[in-house]
Amino acid sequence: MTSFEESALSTSPFQPLCWYRKVDDTFTILDLNHNPAELLDHLIKQHAHIQFTMEVEAQHKLPFLDVSLENSSERIVPTGYRKPIHTDQYIHYLSNHHPQIKQAIVTTLARRAKAICDPAYLLDEIDHPKRTFITLNGYPKQLVNETIATTLQHQNDRLPKPEPTPIRVNIPYQGKISHQISRLLRKTACVDATFYSDKTLKNILRANGRGGSDQTNPNPRGCIYKINCDCGSSYIGETCRPFNIRLKEHKTSVKSALSEHIVNYPNHSIDWKNTEILASNISDWRRRKLWEAINIRRLEPQINRDQGVYLPSAWCVNKDSQTLNISAV
Ligand SMILES: [Zn+2]
Repeated sequence: MTSFEESALSTSPFQPLCWYRKVDDTFTILDLNHNPAELLDHLIKQHAHIQFTMEVEAQHKLPFLDVSLENSSERIVPTGYRKPIHTDQYIHYLSNHHPQIKQAIVTTLARRAKAICDPAYLLDEIDHPKRTFITLNGYPKQLVNETIATTLQHQNDRLPKPEPTPIRVNIPYQGKISHQISRLLRKTACVDATFYSDKTLKNILRANGRGGSDQTNPNPRGCIYKINCDCGSSYIGETCRPFNIRLKEHKTSVKSALSEHIVNYPNHSIDWKNTEILASNISDWRRRKLWEAINIRRLEPQINRDQGVYLPSAWCVNKDSQTLNISAV
């Protein structure tokens, strides 16, 4: 894009007074004697497949990215700008996220307002995030006011971040207990904990509104599966690929544990039609291997040749449990 710009501007009928670009948005100021439509026409002619559109100031204002620029008689005054379709929806205060994440959103908006807004309009600009968080997103008034005040006051005087510990773990956020685990890890083992949201509507629902459970997808990826023999024995495996492809390999392989079982017991028959998906959509291979090992210990399939990867004793699984709820890997 830079070489395109250089070439286009060098052959332009006139030079803009300024030219700033962020990805595919460009802000430019022209001399009053120059016609913006002429520059646009010149740019469109530069390449058959690159098209340009243009927006000019209206009522002395022009939005660029998230800044509204007012062309006053003396200078250009920047204030915050949000597209008319902006919903002002952020993480709701009641959402199951770490409080620091919610506070960070308020801080970010306050910091951005201070960074881009003309000081004379800052108080008006700050009113917007205040209203947005308190009335639309359920944040406590005191938290919002204090966070914004602290951010505006200390923007240039922020405390350095504490030295990170050499080990860091990422665990699902489960409310109060997560804070206690985090403090304990830091205090006793010098381990920093970061959090991720365990279950979100995005994870649970698909765009078509159907649930994301395994039953709705007969051919999931990244799954742990169980294949049964009519003698009651079973085999547990894992694959990152679509399950049907792995199943086909099992049917044709002569070296697999399943084929060995049939060679040893020719009267047995594998129930290929009633295979079970125990877990799916696990893209991380380490997590898949752990899930496989946990299920092998839990269900004790006789056809497997080994127990899967090593599992610490803390991961011992109650064989009677029907569901597994382990996701901290
Ligand atoms: Zn069998």
